[in-house]
Amino acid sequence: MTIREILKEATARLERAGVPNADYDAAQMLAHVLGEDTLMMRLNNHRAVEETKRAAYEAMLARREAREPMQYILGETGFMGLTFHVGPGVLCPRPDTEILCEEALLRLPEGGRVLDIGTGSGALAVSIARLAPGSRVTAVDVSETALAIAGENARLNGADVRFVRSDCFGALAGETFDMIVSNPPYIDRQEMETLMPEVQHEPALALCGGEDGLDFYRRISREAGAHLSDGGVLLFEIGWKQKDAVAALLARHIGEPFALRDYGGNWRVVGAVKERRDA
Ligand code: GLN
Repeated sequence: MTIREILKEATARLERAGVPNADYDAAQMLAHVLGEDTLMMRLNNHRAVEETKRAAYEAMLARREAREPMQYILGETGFMGLTFHVGPGVLCPRPDTEILCEEALLRLPEGGRVLDIGTGSGALAVSIARLAPGSRVTAVDVSETALAIAGENARLNGADVRFVRSDCFGALAGETFDMIVSNPPYIDRQEMETLMPEVQHEPALALCGGEDGLDFYRRISREAGAHLSDGGVLLFEIGWKQKDAVAALLARHIGEPFALRDYGGNWRVVGAVKERRDA
C-alpha cells in the first residue's frame, strides 16, 4: 500500500471512532513512523510503505481508535518551545499552561528559588529552569511515575532541577522559595464524569480536585505562606470557573490576588504576592 492509500483508510477508521481531526492525526502518526515531517511525506505520497513500518503504524492507529491522546502515542509534545516526553501516568502539557509559565518567568527575581508542586511531566519546572538561567528550581510530585518522566525531561532539555517525592509541602519542612507555581488537579467530581475520551486516559490523580475541584487550592494556599519569602509569589493555574474562589483563598492567606486570562479568553491563572509582615 502507498502512503496515500494508508492515510485514506486510516482517516476513515479514526472518523468512525469519533476522533475530531482524523485526517491530521492519521498523517502525524504516519510521518512519525516514517521519520519525516507531514509535508515531505505528502509531497511524495505514492511511495509504498514497508511491512514493518505498516505494523508499527497499525499499533499506533489502534491506540488512537481507542481515543488515547496523541501525545501519549507519539510519546512527546511541545511546551514553551521545548520537547517533553509524555506517557500514561502524567498529564499531557497543555498550551494554556504556557500562560502560567510566562507569568512565572516575568516575575521571577534573578537567581530566584522556585517550587513547582505536582510537576507531572515536569513541563513547568523544566521550562523555568531552562528559560530563567540562574534560577534554582525544585519540583515535587507524589507520583514516582511522574518523577521518573519529569527527571527524564530535565535531562533531555539540559535543565538543572531538584526533584523530591512529596505530597505538596510534606517533605519540604523549613524550606522557603521566592516563587511557588502549581497546576494542581482542579476538575470537580461531577465534571470528571463528562471528560473527553482522551482526557479519561490521563491520570485521575492529576485531574480530580475533590468534590468542588478546590481541594488543592485550599491546602496549598493555607500552607504556602510559611514556605514563601517576603515578597514571594504564588501562581496557580485554575479552571475557567474558579477565579473568584481561588482569589478569595489567596486574599485570605497570601496577599492581594491578581488574575490572567488564556488566549481563549478564560481566566486561567490566579496569583498573589506575599505581603511583607515586618511592619
Ligand atoms: N486543563 C486540564 C483539563 O481541563 C485540567 C488540568 C488540571 O486539572 N490541572 O483537562
